[in-house]
Amino acid sequence: MNIADHSSHTALDALRAAGLLRKAKRVVVLTGAGISTPSGIPDFRSEGSGLWSRDEPMEVASLTTFRTSPEKFFHWFRPLAGQIFNAQPNPAHMAFAELENSGITTTIITQNIDGLHQKAGSKKVLELHGTTRTLSCTQCFKQFDSQPFLQAYIDHGTIPLCANCNAILKPDVILFGEQLPQSPWFEAQRETRQADLMLVAGSSLEVLPVAGLPMQALDRGAHLIVVNNAPTYVNVRADVVIMDDVAAILPEIIKRVIHG
Ligand SMILES: [Zn+2]
Repeated sequence: MNIADHSSHTALDALRAAGLLRKAKRVVVLTGAGISTPSGIPDFRSEGSGLWSRDEPMEVASLTTFRTSPEKFFHWFRPLAGQIFNAQPNPAHMAFAELENSGITTTIITQNIDGLHQKAGSKKVLELHGTTRTLSCTQCFKQFDSQPFLQAYIDHGTIPLCANCNAILKPDVILFGEQLPQSPWFEAQRETRQADLMLVAGSSLEVLPVAGLPMQALDRGAHLIVVNNAPTYVNVRADVVIMDDVAAILPEIIKRVIHG
């Protein structure tokens, strides 16, 4: 598929997006669940995703539940962990890695915990909601690579325990009721202030404080491009809005940026 195969409206917007990206010096890409749904990872905050209908994520994926009944949390998290473990990056992830490799300064700020940007080859990734790649001890705070624990947990539901003190290990993801990790959050704000273009991809911008970043970029005079299949609150202020499949349109835009 190429840009001309999309509807004429989308094709024109894609060309305008490519033009803005080509002129940009510092690009910040803000991604959300929508960029990973083509890789088979459900948006657990969306109604009808299966995970939502079975349990209430706001309750079960909360710090309170993890502290009071970790087995309930791990039971809920198990199918999601399995999907993340098996997921592969899709063409949208690959396109952003190519953009960075092409020499355009690119920082990815993501709300996703699946590590797919890194799997695709992106180097500068700020994970605001943490990651499933590591686990930390709730008692002695020692950090472990998830890999050795994953298979037993996914296959048999074995709850990961600390090799040091035998306490329960918590995935390094930000649960409801937890603060954002300080260092990536500060860096995300700094990158946003320095960017001359922000591209929002696959996020409906409904979760604060991350949802406020595009406004910070706009206030600094940056251009804004939004590619998402649903409207966002900043669409009225964006230079280009494309409501289309991220895995189809983003590779076309970025191919155009790199190869003209
Ligand atoms: Zn420990």
